[in-house]
Order: sequence, then C-alpha cells, then structure tokens
Amino acid sequence: MNNKHKSHIYKALSIIIFLLTVSYAMPVRKDINKCENNRPYYDLTAEDIVARIYEYTGVEWLEETVDQFKTGRSDEIITGVATTFLATYDVLKRAVDQNCNFIITHEPTFYNHYDYTEPLQGDPVQDMKIKFLEEHNLVVWRFHDHIHMMTPDGIVKGMVKGLGWEKYLVDGEENIFVVPEMSLKQLAASLKDHYSVSTIRIIGDPELKCTQVGLSVGAPGSMSQINMLQRDDVEVLIAGESREWETVEYVRDAVDAGMRKAIILLGHAISEEDGMKYLADDLKEVIPEVPVKFIQAGNPFWSPE
Ligand SMILES: [Zn+2]
Repeated sequence: MNNKHKSHIYKALSIIIFLLTVSYAMPVRKDINKCENNRPYYDLTAEDIVARIYEYTGVEWLEETVDQFKTGRSDEIITGVATTFLATYDVLKRAVDQNCNFIITHEPTFYNHYDYTEPLQGDPVQDMKIKFLEEHNLVVWRFHDHIHMMTPDGIVKGMVKGLGWEKYLVDGEENIFVVPEMSLKQLAASLKDHYSVSTIRIIGDPELKCTQVGLSVGAPGSMSQINMLQRDDVEVLIAGESREWETVEYVRDAVDAGMRKAIILLGHAISEEDGMKYLADDLKEVIPEVPVKFIQAGNPFWSPE
C-alpha cells in the first residue's frame, strides 16, 4: 500500500469518525414519526393508547367486557385517533381521509353486541367492511362499558355539555334536570332543532307543562327507563332507544291514566354521540403526542318533511 492510498484511508476514517461523533451528539429523536401542523409526535401503539385510557377512566377494568380490539393489530403505530359513536363504513372512510388509523367506537362494528362475525360470514355488507379495514390496516377498539362506568358517566357528561344543561342539573345528580317551564311540544321542538333531526318521536300530551326532565342515554333496557319514569322528579324522560312494546307502552298507559309523564325518543346515536365528541377533547390531553379527532356518525334515520 503506497502513501497515497494510506492518506485516502485516513481521510475516509476521519470522516466516518466525525459523522459518528456528530450523530451521537445530536439530540435527534429517532421515534419522530410524522408531523401535522409542524407538531412532531412520537411512536405510540394502539395498546399504549388504551393503557392511557385505562388510567383516564379511573375505574377498575372489568374481566369480561366488550371494550376490546375488534380489528387490526394492537401493536400498530398510531398516526391519528378518531372517536366516534359507531365505526360505520362511512366513518372508516373519513378516518382514513384524515390519517387516523385508530378508531375508538362506542358501539359495535359488526352489527351485534359482541362483534361476532360468524353469523354474517360471507355477507356482502360485512365483507365490504372487513376488506376496507384490512386494506387500510385500521385498528378498531370499542370503548363502551368503561366510559359508562366513569363518574360521572362519560357519555352522559358529554350529552349534558352538548345541551348546555349543566346549569339545570339537580344537585348530586348527573342526569336529572329542572329546566325552565315549557310545554312538551316546545321541549321536543328545541331538541329537534338542537340535534337537527327530523326523526325524534314523542309520547305524551303536547301541551304538558314540564320542568322536571330525566336523561337516559343509549339503550339501557326498559326497566332502567321505567324506573326513571317512576320517579316523582321526572315528568319527561329524554331517551335513546327503547323496545316499542315495553317502555313505549308503559308511557302510553301512564298518559292514558292521566299521569304527568312523557317520553322523547331521540334515537340511540343522537342520545350518545356528544359523549364521544367530548371524549375526543379529553383524549387530546391524555395522548398529546397523537392527533385526536371526533368523527360524527350522525343519525341513521330520515323522515319525509
Ligand atoms: Zn352507551
């Protein structure tokens, strides 16, 4: 090896040593993943995010729960989180458009409480959804049982906030209100306007003057709804979904017997959606590293004008 070759080798070695020293000294975060609005965020997996949510709820996790991963890998690196009432096909498409690969859904993805896919195996609707989820590596996790176990119930809290009814809450209650006096018709009309829905249904005297209102979100079952209607401090129950031959007929009989009772059925989605909307605000604090968005599923029904 001549001197010329040696000096080339020394030069190359010193460049390598210089580069190694510089890269070691530079405070580069290797886990920087992507930037949105110039905000760096760091690698978090879906599992990491669920672990933070465990802490956020402050409740003891149930051994048997539907709050589980439904699709995708729990160790997937998350680029964005979408909260929603229900991971509909349309919600999934909008999540992908917004770079969210982790969908936190309140209700099931596959048309039954436990998200069993066997009953509809080979069904074109279910297959289309599964194909889309797989193509986009979407992780879906359900947050149902434990958000309802929070104090106050996270879904109810969001609904009250959405209505701006914190000021009407009865002391010590999370879902019983004393509102300014109005007729049942006026109350129903104000809810119809507020949620921009044409499909709410009402049982009761439209002219009933009411102030005492209860809120029952989702589909807690007829006994839970009837127990609220039995209360002396509930004239009108604002509810989500009800079996038509149970709570509905109970209210019809109560009204026919001259009792001051009424029910306003918003529909399941409308009665819980604000819970998932305001959850997104809380999760922005819980997982500041990852963008969190609320994606509205909306009311599935329509009605002729
Ligand atoms: Zn619910």
